[in-house]
Amino acid sequence: MINVSKLKEGIVIDHIRAGHGYKIFQQLGLDRLDDVVVLMRNVESTKMGRKDLIKIETNLNLNFDVLGLIDPDVTISYIKNGERVKKIRLTPPETVTGILSCKNPRCITNQEHIGNVRFYLVDAQTNQYACEYCDARTHL
Ligand SMILES: [Zn+2]
Repeated sequence: MINVSKLKEGIVIDHIRAGHGYKIFQQLGLDRLDDVVVLMRNVESTKMGRKDLIKIETNLNLNFDVLGLIDPDVTISYIKNGERVKKIRLTPPETVTGILSCKNPRCITNQEHIGNVRFYLVDAQTNQYACEYCDARTHL
């Protein structure tokens, strides 16, 4: 087990399904941060078998919609002075705008390059979203 120093200040995104950590890392733009960010992959978990985990040594405004889209089962802990001060559980967002794009090549949003398309949640179990224009289903 790698020893990663205990976080004094910042955010821990925990219980990420194994394999989703890098996706979250990319989608949240953590590679563009100047602060210390640790992505741990395939960490042993009694509950999940394997999980990914992200530690961010800064207080960042996380995009909960993006997180909820990728993996609504993650938990987010805010750390201050080495103590957890807040813990957030996510739910998949009902609608998202400007994050997803339609996978249907015949959809008008792709034909006419329409941006900020709204998608609405159709299946919370599988995290499926439908395009507001053509109803094609997609997920992040
Ligand atoms: Zn569409």
